[in-house]
Amino acid sequence: MSDLRELYQDVILDHNKNPRNFKILDDATNHADGYNPLCGDKLAVWVKVKEGVVEDVAFKGTGCAISMASASMMTQTVKGKSVVEARRLFDAFHGLVTGKETAVDAVELGKLEVFSGVSEFPVRVKCATLAWHTLNAAVDGKQDTVSTE
Ligand code: ZN
Repeated sequence: MSDLRELYQDVILDHNKNPRNFKILDDATNHADGYNPLCGDKLAVWVKVKEGVVEDVAFKGTGCAISMASASMMTQTVKGKSVVEARRLFDAFHGLVTGKETAVDAVELGKLEVFSGVSEFPVRVKCATLAWHTLNAAVDGKQDTVSTE
């Protein structure tokens, strides 16, 4: 794990220790489960969508620090945003953690920039994107567990 030390910046450690929106959302309109068999990260995402806007979002799960911190920060980032904006953010975030250029420009990732180091560790990309894949599945109304494999 020592090669991952530089990834574990304060923000990631803080969100892993005290994940935000870590609860079951009782009035959720959508829900999906996500699983990353490569690392063992498992999480469930609940989202309340009203008129195309993510009014509320929450998650629960277990996994490595990156998967938990990413889920926590995903909920903070997309809350109050439109579903369209949330998808654009995911595209931009995916570009950030894979180190690939995306067609998405003018997307402000803000604090999510702390995950830029993940691009150095391809195996961790799935940890960082699991929450976002699961969010997409929830919004799309998919019932099956999303697997990163
Ligand atoms: Zn992981």
